[in-house]
Amino acid sequence: MTNMDGVDFVKDIYPNLSETERVRVDLAAAYHLIEYFQMSDSIYTHISARLPGDKEYFIINPYGTRFSEVKASELVTIDLNGTIIDDPCGMGANPAGFTIHSAIHGARPDVKCALHTHTIAGVALSSTQSGILPINQWSLQFYHGVSRHKYEGIALNLEERERLVCDLGEQNKVLILDNHGLMTMGENVGEAFTLMYNLERVCKVQMSVLASGQPVNTIDSDVCDLTYNQYKHFSEISQRGGFHAEWLAYLRLLEKVSPSYKE
Ligand SMILES: [Zn+2]
Repeated sequence: MTNMDGVDFVKDIYPNLSETERVRVDLAAAYHLIEYFQMSDSIYTHISARLPGDKEYFIINPYGTRFSEVKASELVTIDLNGTIIDDPCGMGANPAGFTIHSAIHGARPDVKCALHTHTIAGVALSSTQSGILPINQWSLQFYHGVSRHKYEGIALNLEERERLVCDLGEQNKVLILDNHGLMTMGENVGEAFTLMYNLERVCKVQMSVLASGQPVNTIDSDVCDLTYNQYKHFSEISQRGGFHAEWLAYLRLLEKVSPSYKE
C-alpha cells in the first residue's frame, strides 16, 4: 500500500483532490483520530479548518455527530459572521464552536486549523495555576509559545472573542482555556492534531506526577531551551513530499481502523 516515506500513500489517499478537498479530508481525519485516541467529549468540542481561497470561510463538524461519524463531504461551511454557507446534513454548527473558531480564524490568518478538546487530563491541567511544568522531555516542546485564557462561562458571548484572541497573541499555537480545556493550532490540520496529541500526553504525565506527591526532578532552563529548539528542528526534518511524516502515519492508521472519514 505504501512505501516507507508515505509519498505513494499520499497519492492513494488524495487522488486528484483539489486543495480545498484535501483540507476537508484532513479535517475529517482529525475528528476520527481525536475519537480513536479517546480525546472526544460526546458530541461537544470542535475542530475547524480554514478553506483555501479569498473568502474567509471555515469548516467544522455538523453539530450532533460523534467524531467517528464525521465525513469530509458532510462538514459545515461557515463564514466569520456565523452565516452558514453550506450544511449538507442540515444539522448546523455548535454555537460555542462558532464563537471560539471564528475568533481565531478572524484574527490569525496563519492558522489553518484550530482544534479544541475537553479531556480529563487537559481540563485538570487547565485548572491548575502552574500550567505546563517543564518536568519531562515531552513537556519541553511547550516550554515556549503557550497562552492562557481566563474562564468566562460557556463560550456563547461573542464579545469574548476579542479577549480570547488578545490572550492567544500573534504567534502562539497552544492555548490553555482555564478551567475548561485545551486548544492547538497549526499551519495545517496535521500540525494542530500532532500538537494536541503531544499536549494531551504532557497533561496526563503532569497530573500523574502531581498525584504521586513525590518530589519532582527539575530541568535546568538552558536544557529546557535546548530541547525546545531540538523539537522544532525534528519537526522541520520530518517533512515527506510536503507532508509531515507523523500525519501520514496517522492517516495510515485510519485506513485500518476508521476509513469512512474521507467519504
Ligand atoms: Zn469547550
